[in-house]
Amino acid sequence: MRTIDVAIVGGGPAGLAVAIHAVRRGFSTVVFDRQALPADKACGEGLAPPGVNELEALGARQYLTPADCAPIVGIRYLQEDGTDVSGRFTPAPGLGIRRTALAAALTRTAREAGVVLQERCGVAKVIRSSERVLLTTAAGEEVEARLLVAADGLASPLRQAQGLDEPVKAQAPRRFGLRQHFRMRPWSEFVEIHLVRGVEAYVTPAGSDRVGVAFLWEHGKVDGSISFPSLLHRFPALRERLEGAPSDSHARGAGPFLRKVRGRSLDRFVLVGDAAGYVDAITGEGLTLALRSASALGHLLPQVLAQGASRDSLRPYERAVARHYWRYALSTRLMLAIARSPALRVRLLHGLSRYPAIFEALVNFVTG
Ligand SMILES: Cc1cc2nc3c(=O)[nH]c(=O)nc-3n(C[C@H](O)[C@H](O)[C@H](O)COP(=O)(O)OP(=O)(O)OC[C@H]3O[C@@H](n4cnc5c(N)ncnc54)[C@H](O)[C@@H]3O)c2cc1C
Repeated sequence: MRTIDVAIVGGGPAGLAVAIHAVRRGFSTVVFDRQALPADKACGEGLAPPGVNELEALGARQYLTPADCAPIVGIRYLQEDGTDVSGRFTPAPGLGIRRTALAAALTRTAREAGVVLQERCGVAKVIRSSERVLLTTAAGEEVEARLLVAADGLASPLRQAQGLDEPVKAQAPRRFGLRQHFRMRPWSEFVEIHLVRGVEAYVTPAGSDRVGVAFLWEHGKVDGSISFPSLLHRFPALRERLEGAPSDSHARGAGPFLRKVRGRSLDRFVLVGDAAGYVDAITGEGLTLALRSASALGHLLPQVLAQGASRDSLRPYERAVARHYWRYALSTRLMLAIARSPALRVRLLHGLSRYPAIFEALVNFVTG
């Protein structure tokens, strides 16, 4: 049986970032992912300025080329009555990054740092005690680890199996997302968020010749069958912009978004990224949160492992994540409440369009 320091389940941005931090601190680290890496995923692909800093710190930013990423100078909201309001990121620009390119840059950085990547290798069984974690892969291989990091995404089978899932109330809104890319020169350096009743469209420059469009909506609030063309049909100005542009990816969806957790750690076990709780994609903050949490865990790893990776030793990590999460959760819930009330949203954006400095301050609070 193989014995390692850190086993990470999930080779998305959260898992790969933890792996890079861990291996650079001298810990033997293996990432298991059931998919081939780098993996694609439904995402709006906007990385806020603090997320770009995390990417720089990891050393992965250097592997992104202008073909697959583009600077984002801020956020622009546009609504159905023609009102628009923009706010710039004041610290520095963010980045729109094609998800496959982000995954490839992180995968390459991880490999070069010495992380072992086991692709197409799901984890079928976990036996956890206060002494160690024993993993059995879908192929039947057994691995013993000092710490298991669950970075296995929104649905996180490991979070469920370890009893850290907090059930979401049946009456809670169920929100979903669907994205596709188009081959065309981006027309704006802002992430444009087009708003109509019941649906938001996120338009992100994701390369010198690529525009990504992601729709978010609440189940039951949109009539008729849901498909990328049917959602695009609701945004005439956007449809006109995209007219004739060849598609650059297949439509890909995700959801429901809301995932609650009872806690983010147990003895020898810790949750990172979407697995550690998620509210919604409406603020486009998931990647930044995942990279920040990975960095917090990476910095604490030496003391965590020295203290037997007990739940107590992981409490500083829980506190570090909570500090970032509260801001994300607060602004996301606020945005959701506004999006669910179109009359309020229309009035609010009208007001903010007259006071762009306030809007800009809000943009920088949410993404700060
Ligand atoms: C429509 C949409 C738009 C979004 N827009 C933005 C945006 O603009 N900006 C932003 O910052 N965020 C955005 N997000 C959120 C962002 O995509 C997520 O926060 C981010 O992907 C989280 O990364 P992760 O590594 O935690 O999970 P994931 O990227 O989901 O990775 C999880 C990995 O775990 C693997 N896995 C799962 N189970 C197992 C298992 N049993 N064994 C092995 N491997 C397993 C999966 O194969 C996957 O590779 C958006 C999300 C959606 C859905």
